[in-house]
Amino acid sequence: MPYNTFMRSTKAVIHLDRLSRNIAAIRAKIGPEPLICMPVKADAYGHGAVPVALTALEAGVRYLAVATVDEGIELREAGIKAPVLLLSIPLPDELPAVAAGDLSPLIGDREYAEAAGRAAGQAGKRLSVHLKVDTGMGRVGCPPEAAAELAAFIAAHPSLELAGTATHLAVADSPAEADLGYTGEQLARFRAAVGGIRRAGIDPGLLHAANSGAVIFHKEARLDMVRPGILLYGYGAPGKTPEVEPVMELVTRISFIKRVKAGETVSYGRTWTAPRDTVIATLPVGYGDGLPRRLSGNLSVRIRGGMYPLAGRICMDQCMADLGPDTDIQRWEPVTIFGGGAPSAADLAARLGTISYEITCGINKRVPREYRHDGNAGPAG
Ligand SMILES: *Cc1c(COP(=O)(O)O)cnc(C)c1O
Repeated sequence: MPYNTFMRSTKAVIHLDRLSRNIAAIRAKIGPEPLICMPVKADAYGHGAVPVALTALEAGVRYLAVATVDEGIELREAGIKAPVLLLSIPLPDELPAVAAGDLSPLIGDREYAEAAGRAAGQAGKRLSVHLKVDTGMGRVGCPPEAAAELAAFIAAHPSLELAGTATHLAVADSPAEADLGYTGEQLARFRAAVGGIRRAGIDPGLLHAANSGAVIFHKEARLDMVRPGILLYGYGAPGKTPEVEPVMELVTRISFIKRVKAGETVSYGRTWTAPRDTVIATLPVGYGDGLPRRLSGNLSVRIRGGMYPLAGRICMDQCMADLGPDTDIQRWEPVTIFGGGAPSAADLAARLGTISYEITCGINKRVPREYRHDGNAGPAG
């Protein structure tokens, strides 16, 4: 294990108690009926798939979803028995592992249904699959008018079981008028496809369409199961329910502290010049940990409840913060970069023209994850 042999000061604190509360908030919002499927793809959006999945299942989540076969196998090797949806399409060569791991692929074409059925048959299994209908996302799935025929093929296959029928929404997170209309159209196409499946005398299984945006903005998309990812990780729509708390908090500790004189410069490229005599703290975190370098000059960190701007460029492994001339902050004191009381990953993302998902997924494996259930804030409060 090259990574995390020693506990670094830089770590991602994963507040599992917040995750449990976020799940409860979503349950309160959607009512008792719909099942919850929690996407734990990309190592649970960077939070760590197994601890997140175990906490989610304990909090009443019934399904998990991953993107790759390896991600699904990781859950199985941790002893997780819950159904695991496979959202992306693995190679045909990976289908024996899909069958062996009892992962449930989303299937949107006949050729792939045949391949999955063959792999399941060879493994002596009956594989649960979900039919994926492309109602306007344009990524994977069959056209709505082809759903009934594909459902009939799956339902008749001795090694396949049609456990569900799903679609994915392209603009469900946008409250703009045109986007609300587009989501309405997608849902209408989905209802038409499901109607066709039922008229063919086939049970479509669990119906599911809602990602986080739909849970917030589209009640009619809840159906039998919802699949909110980012909302469960604590990034909702400001002012909207459910209110959720960020699960990830990126923290570190000051590794070096010094006085600099007015006119001295800090970091590569000399982009920052001390406007006055001041105190500079060095933090052992940088873009090599996944803190985007493009935040240089546009990020403040939290120490003892106060905010301090970074000085100069973020380096690979370190960055510097300006504590001002009169500070009594000491070396080794804790620092929060985001989450907790600091700006959230969503705030950082907004400054970079991206989304919170990319920030949390980007915190890489050099950063140890520390799992907490205690409800305490991170070290910097
Ligand atoms: C990732 C994903 C989700 C979750 O999306 P969020 O925006 O995080 O809620 C739901 N469904 C599918 C098919 C996905 O790929």
